[in-house]
Amino acid sequence: MTLGEDTLMTLRDVESLRQRVHSWRKAGLSVAVVPTMGALHRGHIHLMERAQAIADRVIATIFVNPTQFGPNEDFASYPRQEARDLEMLEKAHVHALFAPTPGVMYPPGFATSIHVGGLTDVLCGPLRPGHFDGVATVVTKLLMQTQPDMALFGEKDFQQLAVIKRAVADLNIPVDVLGVPTVREADGLAMSSRNAYLTESERAVAPTLYRAISAVAHSISQGASPILVIDQAKAQILAAGFRSIDYVEARHAETLALLQPGETHGRVLAAAYLGRARLIDNVAIG
Ligand code: AMP
Repeated sequence: MTLGEDTLMTLRDVESLRQRVHSWRKAGLSVAVVPTMGALHRGHIHLMERAQAIADRVIATIFVNPTQFGPNEDFASYPRQEARDLEMLEKAHVHALFAPTPGVMYPPGFATSIHVGGLTDVLCGPLRPGHFDGVATVVTKLLMQTQPDMALFGEKDFQQLAVIKRAVADLNIPVDVLGVPTVREADGLAMSSRNAYLTESERAVAPTLYRAISAVAHSISQGASPILVIDQAKAQILAAGFRSIDYVEARHAETLALLQPGETHGRVLAAAYLGRARLIDNVAIG
């Protein structure tokens, strides 16, 4: 590491981000970016570590993106804890943090939106209108601002990963998009910043979602018909104490088309409310 690079630097504007990446590039170093909304946990840090393993320099971004939240969603209450995040990033030896303000990302007059068709017509798409447009637009911006060699995203947000891969391919953005498997708590619950919303008793119930979709995935891989086993899983999730279920579905991993009876490979994806937390999770079939 060269002088001045042994501590994490925080960049707030696009110009200083560009200069930093440019100087690394000139030195022949490869650059990976890991976009986040902060409130970091071990899942995020695992992404940083994967990035460290494949690139010379790692940039984390933290931006709670207003355009991907619906009017009745949790933008205002989304956990924000930059000082703690900074400590975690420093410990993980991340080289730079890009943490722009909303004004940097959406200056007055901003009027562009990226819409990825098809993949956003299912699962969370119709339930969170505008969400994936907000995600695709902000991720496209972060990639154009950073111009990294690689960008890493969690499989935890499986539909998001598919949408980003599609946008990057369609827009010929010169970056390798890499998916990283979901990091879980010891009892199977997928780590998420939104787990902070769970009360103690809800937290005890939360792993039921993962257990139920894992059972669905196993049964389908053995040839069971999706409809039957999904109905059983939904009943199990509600009986455990979840308030409501947005979906439990078995789909193809790339196209997100529904799996047909007899198909034994794909993904089970689920979203359900536990108290005020909307939990999402997914597992591979086969
Ligand atoms: P977020 O801060 O929730 O927007 O997440 C930032 C990135 O971390 C996204 O690519 C997520 O998919 C990823 N991520 C979130 N939770 C996990 C997890 N439990 N395991 C792996 N990656 C995750």
